[in-house]
Amino acid sequence: MSTGHYKAVGQLKPLFSCSFVASSIYKHSDNVFWFDVMPRGEEKFVSVYIIIDEKIALIETGPASSNVNLQNGIEAAGINLKDIDYIIPTHIHLDHFGGGGHIMDLCYNAQAVVHPKAYKHVSRIDRWWEGSLDFLGEIAELYGKPRPILESRLISADEGYVLSLGQSNLRALHTPGHAPHHITWVHGDEAFVGDSLGLWYSDLNVSFPVTSGYYRHDLALDSIDRTSSLDLKFLHHTHFGPRPAEGALEQVKSEFEIWMSTVEEGYRKNLSSREIVKILFDTRSGLKQTDMSHGVHQTATHLGSVEGMLNWLRRKDA
Ligand SMILES: [Zn+2]
Repeated sequence: MSTGHYKAVGQLKPLFSCSFVASSIYKHSDNVFWFDVMPRGEEKFVSVYIIIDEKIALIETGPASSNVNLQNGIEAAGINLKDIDYIIPTHIHLDHFGGGGHIMDLCYNAQAVVHPKAYKHVSRIDRWWEGSLDFLGEIAELYGKPRPILESRLISADEGYVLSLGQSNLRALHTPGHAPHHITWVHGDEAFVGDSLGLWYSDLNVSFPVTSGYYRHDLALDSIDRTSSLDLKFLHHTHFGPRPAEGALEQVKSEFEIWMSTVEEGYRKNLSSREIVKILFDTRSGLKQTDMSHGVHQTATHLGSVEGMLNWLRRKDA
């Protein structure tokens, strides 16, 4: 994979190449590293971060289906699986933590840190998996079925929970909206933002919303506002890579608002989600390019986001 793509983003430098896939480990700072976990070979879709302090933490795991890439990426960063202390998802959607149980089986000294609302699903996966199949259909099968994690290896992170890593710590900022169990992990003046700030396209210098079937627009905007108040320098997106924070929160919030007003106008006119996506493609600068140059899921992803917003409007009307 070409690394020139990332040169626009400040401090990023590939550390060294891994032999297993055409990817690289990127050094973001002295203690934050990241790589492309490439589920089913799809590039620039899921980034996994590693924080190396006195403790070692992995942020996100990607889905079960890319677990071998995950293991290889960790090892290519010079880290032994048994030396990982914490495995920390922003939320448990399959593309973020579907591989959580698989990697926990190998990182046998690690504990996983999850939102209290995700705790039960992670230890008893039946409802998590059924819900994923319901919502994602065959994409859930492509991501692969999660494995359960023993309760004795789970930490439940309430709002404000602080996890010390040594010189630095991670603080849980509950950021519902995309999902009720979503956590933004604040690390100094940077944060691992999961899906709370949409999808970041570094080559287009823009982020677009991403929602789920139980999207809450009011909470999503409130989460963006609370993240804005932190005066952050970098936002570490799962989809995809680090984004300098300057101007980002304003751009994201206005994009969420414009999408919702476009969706609401379509909803009042009884337009289908496909027709609304077409309007967004025609009016939102850069959106069409995301579909042309970012893998097979993009139209489906944007369609899903419009449907999430329609669901929110329908629930509000009910
Ligand atoms: Zn998600």
